[in-house]
Order: sequence, then C-alpha cells, then structure tokens
Amino acid sequence: MNFELPPEAESLRQEVVQFAQKELGGDVIERDASSTFWEDGWRKCADFGILGLPVPEEYGGSGTDLTTTIAAMEALGYGCHDLGLIFAMNAHLWTNTIPILEYGTEEQKHKYLPRLCSGELIGANGASEPEAGSDVFNMTTRADRQGDYYVLNGQKTFVSNAQVADLIVAYAATTPGVGQMGITAFIIERDTPGLSVGKPIHKMGLRTSPMGELFFEDCKVPAANVLAREGGGAACFNCSMEWERGCILAMHLGRMQYQIERCVEYARQRKQYGNPIGRYQSVANRIVDMKVRLEAARPLVYKIGWQKDRGQEAMLEAAIAKLFLSEAAVDSSLDAIQVFGGYGYMSEFEVERDLRDAVGSKLYPGPVEIQRNIIARLLGLPPSTTPPPPPRRKA
Ligand SMILES: Cc1cc2nc3c(=O)[nH]c(=O)nc-3n(C[C@H](O)[C@H](O)[C@H](O)COP(=O)(O)OP(=O)(O)OC[C@H]3O[C@@H](n4cnc5c(N)ncnc54)[C@H](O)[C@@H]3O)c2cc1C
Repeated sequence: MNFELPPEAESLRQEVVQFAQKELGGDVIERDASSTFWEDGWRKCADFGILGLPVPEEYGGSGTDLTTTIAAMEALGYGCHDLGLIFAMNAHLWTNTIPILEYGTEEQKHKYLPRLCSGELIGANGASEPEAGSDVFNMTTRADRQGDYYVLNGQKTFVSNAQVADLIVAYAATTPGVGQMGITAFIIERDTPGLSVGKPIHKMGLRTSPMGELFFEDCKVPAANVLAREGGGAACFNCSMEWERGCILAMHLGRMQYQIERCVEYARQRKQYGNPIGRYQSVANRIVDMKVRLEAARPLVYKIGWQKDRGQEAMLEAAIAKLFLSEAAVDSSLDAIQVFGGYGYMSEFEVERDLRDAVGSKLYPGPVEIQRNIIARLLGLPPSTTPPPPPRRKA
C-alpha cells in the first residue's frame, strides 16, 4: 500500500497551491459579506485548466485522472480562501460536465464539453424542489413530449450557480407515478424560452457561490437535449451524486490543513497567564483532534479516486467519505474558533467563515442522514423507506 500521491498528482498539487496563493487572493471577506460571485477568479481557474481536469483532451480537457483531480481540489482548498468559488466550480464539474461526459451523445459532448472546460459556459443542477429534497425522485416538475420537443413545467430550488449559469442539467418526470424510473435528465440552455431564474437565495455559508430558484413555464426543450434516454434520469443523477459526494468535499481537506497550520501558529504566539496558549492541554488537544480528523479523512477521499481510476464504482466509499469529512470539517472549524477565542468569532480572522462554509457540506449533496441510510443499505441492513438507487449503467 502506497500512501504517497503519484508524482504527477503531487506535482499538480504543488502547482495549484502556488497558483491559488498568487492569483486567488482578492477580498473574500467583502465578497462573502455581499454574496458576490468572483467572475475573475472563475476565469483564472478556467485558464489554469481546473474546469477541464477530468475531461479527455478530445472534448477540451486535460484527461487527468480522478486522484490527480482530487489533489488539485485539495490544493485549491488550501491555497484559495474563497470556498464558495471552489464549490461553484465543483457543482459545475460534477453535475454538468461529468453527466454529459458519461451519458451524453457524441454531438452533445462536442457541443458542450469544450465550453464547459474553458469556463465559457457555467453549469448548474436543477434537481431539488420545494417538496422534494432528500426524496428527490418524488419531484413534480413534468416534461411532456410534444413532437421534437419536451415541454417542462415546474420549479426547482436550491440551485447553485443559478444566476450565473449558461447551462442547466435539470430533472423532470416524464412518466409520473413510476418513481425514479420515470425521471428524465435534460440539458437546458439558459436562454430557452419558458425558463426563468428567481430571486437569489441568501445562505449561511458558501456565500460567494450564487443560489436561486428556477421556474419552467411551458419551457420547450429539444428532444435532442435529453441526456441518456427518456427514463434514464435517475441513473444520470446517481452518477452525478457519486462523483460529487466523492470530490466536492476535497476542498475541505485543504482548508482543514490550512486551519491546523494557523491554529498551531496562533497557539504558539498567543500568550495568556504568561504562557503560550498551546501549552495548555485543552487548547493543544483541540488542534490534535483537528489533525487526527484530517489524517482519517484524507485516505477516505483518495480511495474514491483510486477506485474510480480503476473503473470501479464507489457508491459506498463516496457516502462514507462525504459523511465523515463533512462532520470533520464542521467539528474542526468549531475547534479552530475556540483556539482563536473571541477573535475566532470575528469575520476578520476568517475562521467563522470556515464554519459557515462547512455546515452546508452536511446537507449537500444529500444530507449526512441519507449517507448513513445508503451505507446501512449497502451493508445489507433491512431496507429503510428510502428506495435503492437504480443501476448506473442501464440509463
Ligand atoms: C449549499 C447547498 C447547495 C445546494 N445545491 C444544490 C443544487 O445545485 N441543486 C440542487 O438540486 N439541490 C441543491 N441543494 C439541495 C440539497 O441537495 C438538499 O438540501 C438536500 O438534498 C436535502 O433536501 P432538503 O433540504 O429538502 O431536506 P429534507 O429532505 O426535507 O430533509 C430534512 C431533514 O430530514 C432528514 N431526512 C429526510 N429523509 C430522511 C430519511 N429517509 N432518513 C433519515 N433522515 C431523513 C434529512 O437528512 C434532513 O436532516 C443544495 C443544498 C445546499 C445546502
């Protein structure tokens, strides 16, 4: 067993850290306060090649393996303080680029992937609805076939990137009443008549990643824009979630490392009662716990890369990693705030933002409770009320 990153992954990791520290500074405190998406940061990351990492060269990417891609995301989380920007890029990658790569026709791939990789197009994912969250396949958005088109009616909520998206992979019921087998995925261009974006949804963390609602009112989508096939939407969605659960939290690995370094530095120089606070065991133990969580989380995430790079599914591993890492990121952010004392609570010190950014990871993509359900089911425990996912490859 080798615990070192392969040389190409290590070399990209270092390059991304340098790139992020040099180019992705900016005033994140101000952007966070005003919930502003950083277009310039998006462009710089796209130009660096982040958005094309896992896509083969023939479609405009660099054909990087998943382990290396995860290393790049971890490095971004370490070097770039704007986790909302990194989250927006991950949402784009795992809910648009990857489903189109895995399930798109050659025409769809050539039409959309090069521009998703170059960052010219920004992708968003329309799955959740006001009454269909964890139970997402209980959606009420309908798509009715009319000749060469599908006509969509319904509403989506919690859509990351909604206000800035050029392309949306959205899900709708084409055969209501048959559950997940009646769901179809569509690639929808932003200027399609009948599609509108609602007011921004303001949120606790990841505030530089915009979020909004989407409304479909007799929205005519060409049948050529069906992803996979009619009724194949659940498989697309599960594929997307498997990648997203596995990879979107890699940025928190980097952030946790950064937090530890800052806490160690602070605990060495901050003196109270005549001693550096790091000399007090209750302070030191918090930083020790942060380190233990990080060291436990990292292999869970890289195992997903290792398995998927070998063509193996990683549904169980993705649920485990997502569950553990999201809880670890929240717990470590709370510990970091405590180490910094009152300063940790203040925006200027940027630790409170880490906590707000981390809390969302316990909810997207699929809450920690649902990850526990998935793990229980894959362990062979008696089925809960949550239906099993459909087979991936039969879309
Ligand atoms: C930052 C962020 C970004 C997001 N981005 C997107 C996006 O781009 N596109 C999109 O479509 N959605 C997005 N979402 C929505 C996200 O996927 C949902 O919030 C999530 O699926 C949960 O749905 P819900 O919020 O409706 O909660 P509910 O499903 O109503 O759940 C409420 C509570 O009940 C628990 N619960 C529900 N069912 C069960 C069960 N069977 N067993 C045990 N516990 C259960 C849940 O775990 C949760 O604690 C985003 C959410 C967040 C926070």
